[in-house]
Amino acid sequence: MKELEGFVVVVTGAASGIGEACVTAFEDRGANVVAWDLTGTASAGPVDVSDSVAVRAAAEQVREKFGRVDVLVNCAGVITANLPLQEVNPDDFQRNFSVNVMGVVNTSQAVYPLMSQSSHGAIVNVASQAALVCLPSQSAYSASKGAVAALTRASAIDWAAEGIRVNAVCPGFTATPMAMGQMTPELDAAVSRRVPLGRIFQPSEMAEAIVFLASPRASAITGVVLPVDGGWTAGEPALPM
Ligand code: NAP
Repeated sequence: MKELEGFVVVVTGAASGIGEACVTAFEDRGANVVAWDLTGTASAGPVDVSDSVAVRAAAEQVREKFGRVDVLVNCAGVITANLPLQEVNPDDFQRNFSVNVMGVVNTSQAVYPLMSQSSHGAIVNVASQAALVCLPSQSAYSASKGAVAALTRASAIDWAAEGIRVNAVCPGFTATPMAMGQMTPELDAAVSRRVPLGRIFQPSEMAEAIVFLASPRASAITGVVLPVDGGWTAGEPALPM
């Protein structure tokens, strides 16, 4: 029997990047994966996580089909243009918060009653290294991911009595459309110098950490905000000492 045989897993932002890699990783372990993404694709149903009504309707469909949810992976996310704080439009803050933060609130609240039916409920939120060490000219994104980290701890405490574990991963630079959209040869070289492990990561490497935190192997872990960043947040690797 596969490790997560029969598990019901909901993944948001599932049509691309880290979310898509999560779908593959959970399916490989035998899970039934419900994939949601903004516009919908052949493999993911259309669910805008910032729309609480749409999220509740989608959760109701999961209830009708499966009766419960074992794992929720909150991968949907956006990043807005690089600008110093004084130039950031309030709409950009609104967009980062409505998807990156309220998206997690909406899906977590909608799935909570279904997860209460599971004996191993687990939520994994995808925050960012920017939740821990801010990126230049990314105040709105960094603040939203900081909120995801705090929300992870808060929901872990609130739902521990039901046995629902809530953790987050903080990816470093990962080769997805989101990150590669802003990648230049100069940025690639600078990131590789800055990361102690010396490279950009693959979505599948993020998915491995997410699957671990979601699985019963992590049964004692809740409220953790785990960097998966090749050491970026551990410190500066390149001082000439
Ligand atoms: P990605 O390839 O752009 O995937 C993000 C997915 O989320 C896309 O399919 C996107 O759909 C979807 N999405 C956007 N808004 C949504 C909404 N309102 N409702 C539902 N789905 C929505 O990016 P990724 O790099 O895999 O990002 C996944 C998560 O990792 C994000 O939360 C991101 O902040 C985080 N992260 C990424 C990195 C990195 O280096 N890649 C680093 C740290 C953290 P559309 O394409 O249609 O917009």
